[in-house]
Amino acid sequence: MSDTQAAQELERLAEQASTCTACRLAGTRTNVVFGDGSTRAQVMFIGEGPGRNEDLQGLPFVGAAGQLLNQLLSEIGLQRSDAYIANVVKCRPPGNRDPRPDEIAACKGYLVDQIRLIDPTVVMTLGNFATKLLLKEERGITRLRGRAYPWWNRIVIPTFHPAAALRGGASVLASMREDFALTRATLDGRPEPRSEPEAAGHPVEQLELFG
Ligand code: URA
Repeated sequence: MSDTQAAQELERLAEQASTCTACRLAGTRTNVVFGDGSTRAQVMFIGEGPGRNEDLQGLPFVGAAGQLLNQLLSEIGLQRSDAYIANVVKCRPPGNRDPRPDEIAACKGYLVDQIRLIDPTVVMTLGNFATKLLLKEERGITRLRGRAYPWWNRIVIPTFHPAAALRGGASVLASMREDFALTRATLDGRPEPRSEPEAAGHPVEQLELFG
């Protein structure tokens, strides 16, 4: 599929999502936050779900966590507009509660299509929800971060959610910097990454809904 076709298809999906009523979050959202960034991005970020600012603006990571994400990107020589940013759920959970399993399941098809159409080299999962959804792992982000995982013919690099760094201070931020450096090295084709063979997937079109 050409870049133009992929961009058109993403636009069509965003349009479809804008009136989605597949789960209860439709009842409380202001805007659907489908995703933002370059449709040709080599790096895609997956967060948890929109917060208050994102819900109001219809864009992902526009609050304080987004500022930190932009900063970490700039430290590895990328701008936000070079990346694509999406979330596990596209609508804000009320009061910023955790997304529920049925909400994640209802939204998963959009994420599968976003990954397929953007076709990034590296997917950075931000925090537990995105990491567990993709890697099908019981272990939490503290255990999983710090390495690169082969995943459906691309690389997943889990890291903390930027909001955790805003709360957790210097050591969380230092770990995130390491993970972003690993993304840079992976994009540059430098040797690494330490991989988890059991997490490896197969290159299929629909990602088998993540297996
Ligand atoms: N936190 C998220 O997980 N996603 C956003 O878009 C903003 C904050």
